[in-house]
Amino acid sequence: MTESSNSKPSPKIGRVYLVGGGPGDPGLLTLRGAECLAMADLVLYDGLVNPLLLRHTHAQAERTCRADSPTGRMIPQAEINRHLIEAAQSGKTVVRLKGGDPFVFGRGSEEAAALQAAGIPFEVVPGITAATAAAVYTGISLTHRDHASAVAFVTGHEDPTKATTLDYNALAAFPGTLVFYMGLHRLGSITRSLIAAGKSPTTPACVVSRATQPRQRTVTGTLADIASLAANEGLHAPSLSIIGDCVRVRENARWFEDRPLFGQLIGITRPEDQAYETALQAIRLGAYPISLPIIEIGPPDDWNDVDRIIDRLSEFDWIVFSSVNGVHGLLGRLWDTGRDLRSLAHAKLATIGPGTAAALEKYHLRADLIPNQFRAEALAAELKPVVSGRRVLWARANRGRDVLPNELVAAGATLEQVVVYQNRDMTALPRVVLEQLEQGELDWITLSSPSIARNLKMVLSSAALEQLGNRTKVASISPVTSAAARQTGLPVTVEATEYTWDGLFQAMIQYSDRDK
Ligand code: SAH
Repeated sequence: MTESSNSKPSPKIGRVYLVGGGPGDPGLLTLRGAECLAMADLVLYDGLVNPLLLRHTHAQAERTCRADSPTGRMIPQAEINRHLIEAAQSGKTVVRLKGGDPFVFGRGSEEAAALQAAGIPFEVVPGITAATAAAVYTGISLTHRDHASAVAFVTGHEDPTKATTLDYNALAAFPGTLVFYMGLHRLGSITRSLIAAGKSPTTPACVVSRATQPRQRTVTGTLADIASLAANEGLHAPSLSIIGDCVRVRENARWFEDRPLFGQLIGITRPEDQAYETALQAIRLGAYPISLPIIEIGPPDDWNDVDRIIDRLSEFDWIVFSSVNGVHGLLGRLWDTGRDLRSLAHAKLATIGPGTAAALEKYHLRADLIPNQFRAEALAAELKPVVSGRRVLWARANRGRDVLPNELVAAGATLEQVVVYQNRDMTALPRVVLEQLEQGELDWITLSSPSIARNLKMVLSSAALEQLGNRTKVASISPVTSAAARQTGLPVTVEATEYTWDGLFQAMIQYSDRDK
């Protein structure tokens, strides 16, 4: 086709953001990094990046694997560069998300040079590099004034095609801390070379693997024995080594590895779109969340019933919410149909617990009633004295227990129920997760509702079920959930005393403390 005056203009050229994704803890991304992810049409991320960061983007995301990752294929650098350039030329906003800082041992500067050569506008967003993050998360100050006047970041993976190689005499004489990136498999020859060049074999040294992540491990020793200690411990990539007197004072500033659920793998059974907050909560307690969606939440088959109720909201004296999804279902639809909170002005609002009340607060609504115990029986008991002769609306899921409607009707309320969201059972778990379960790798599975407990039984293989109550403990959010679990034959190790996710985590912490 030839260019004519009424043909479409060629697309505006896009921009590439080379963004540092930090060392693994999803909280260690810069604000600018998050802004770029929010703008992106395409995200290319490397093997070191925590996929939880993709929460900040709606873009299509593709992983460029590293050769040392279990999945194998490393996309050649030239191919990545070409992909970045072509995507930007087609008008896309592209984020190239790299582990740590994009310009620290990350070839980010080569990608920037390729973009510049192709005339693509770009911006580089620094990230927290592994060395400083690993040091802080393991309790080490790389520049502790009593122990180091300088710090050197050194590659443990010398590019054999480079003309220069590291000068070990200079490194041995360096007046400060040495941090070796990428050198775990060569640590023996690195430490031997340093000792041969005159560095004291008693110099403190440590290896930190998977730094800032709940499976972080730190092995401490001396220059003479750190390589064999690390090998014996079977540390995993990514790892880096810190060599210098500053390692000595690590025990005075430990914090991350002392978190209450440090290193424990916890299966989070919430629906995928709600698991993020809970995953962060687990991470802040030092645990490693594994997403294990057992049910999925979706809109009702159609909105007709909801819309009819929304037209008549002014008729209700009370609106009852028994879940966060109920709040979002009703209030989301209210907004989408062109109305707003004024439609609720006459009604009193009841919630089942603090989580549901917090969901209302996001809409600037205060709950008039939150029972002391966060369960349907308690909610019904507190509503009973005030609903006699009143019109009550319950915004609910397509399935659930009958306690609330039975009790409210018995108390003389005129009750209407409207399904504002649906719970659907997932029919299978992701294969990787099922394998982890079968091999007993999970420390905990969390059950946060009776329907989750029931359906978990359906999606587990017998090998996975055998681990429950043995290697994998089961934490239940409430007595009702525990009863449903036991009914289907699942063991329950601990039960929350407050029926919330906070309560669930507390129960797991108390159990773990018993072992200490
Ligand atoms: N650009 C990255 C480094 C890329 S080179 C940064 O600034 O951090 C990859 C090396 O970084 C790994 O071999 C390892 O030595 C180190 N590394 C990256 N993330 C790490 C982590 N979470 N824990 C320990 N080392 C890490």
